[in-house]
Amino acid sequence: MTAKVLDGAKIRDEIFAELKQEVAQLKSAHHFRPGLAAVLVGENPASQLYVKSKIAACEQLGLTSWLHTPPASVTTAWLLQLVSDLNRDDHVDGILIQLPLPAQVDSKRVLEAVSPAKDVDGFHPVSMGMLVSNRSGLVACTPAGCMEILRRNHIPIEGANAVVLGRSDIVGKPMALLLLHANATVTVCHSKSRDLPEIIRHADILVAAIGRAGFVQAEWIKPGAAVIDVGTNKVTDTVEAKRLLANFPARLGKFAAKGSVLVGDVHPDAINTAGALTPVPGGVGPMTITMLMSNTVKAAKLRRLPAMATEAKSQPAGSAR
Ligand code: NAP
Repeated sequence: MTAKVLDGAKIRDEIFAELKQEVAQLKSAHHFRPGLAAVLVGENPASQLYVKSKIAACEQLGLTSWLHTPPASVTTAWLLQLVSDLNRDDHVDGILIQLPLPAQVDSKRVLEAVSPAKDVDGFHPVSMGMLVSNRSGLVACTPAGCMEILRRNHIPIEGANAVVLGRSDIVGKPMALLLLHANATVTVCHSKSRDLPEIIRHADILVAAIGRAGFVQAEWIKPGAAVIDVGTNKVTDTVEAKRLLANFPARLGKFAAKGSVLVGDVHPDAINTAGALTPVPGGVGPMTITMLMSNTVKAAKLRRLPAMATEAKSQPAGSAR
């Protein structure tokens, strides 16, 4: 069996087309553009790259964006003042604090200072609480993106046995809640869970988010299961690359040329066991920025258009539409 490849880039393009139309409608009918303010502290190259892609996505969709770039020496108090200004600014619908923040900054205090109405990352305790109680709100982007992949590929969730590997606040926990609200029977596993292969064997849907390259073995997966691989692990060791990619000579060739390769938390051989599988890269990755854009438009509607907010409340938590 060869699994259906769950193409995240294709779903990103679909959602972007829908959002572009919605943004144009908001502009023509309600005379505003949703706006995202990004805060990028210091000069971490990976963070710079992520923020650049987020700003580029805003431009592509016709959203307004602002970029604040305080130096790495910034204080907690300075950032709290900036967040307070952005909270009060009526043009700003979403506030994105790019992580990680420097060690001297109290990251938790800064994140919790963001108004829940503008919390497009979905990290605020109020947003988490809304998700727990299955009320419409802003849901963390990566798990919301995983749900879009499942829904738009018509993978049955109701009644399915779903296993979530990982219990982080930004991926595992919200993922488990979203699946639960969609009526799956959910098991959440972590580093102290016993006999993972046995638990995973019962999963109709497996979401792996642990940050261990190729950890989930192909033979642990129930034949035909849907596998969402959130892990993005950079492999640089030749022996490890050969172990993971023995059956993928083209990818091994690229590794030899480049010296590194991105591998998910699921062994690539799972393509022969699963019924459907997200590739790494190109599966969950493109969905994270997509859902940030979707959350910014949603935040704008919830905050600025009370009538449309009622309509948005009838959508399932974490839905892009
Ligand atoms: P995290 O905060 O480090 O959490 C990892 C979770 O995995 C923890 O709950 C941990 O258990 C569990 N875990 C670690 N080793 C395990 C093992 N051997 N067996 C079972 N459980 C184990 O990571 P995260 O932020 O959730 O991210 C997870 C992965 O997703 C990473 O590879 C990250 O790069 C990737 N990611 C990708 C995207 C994307 O856009 N594609 C977005 C976010 C994250 P304990 O709680 O017991 O420690």
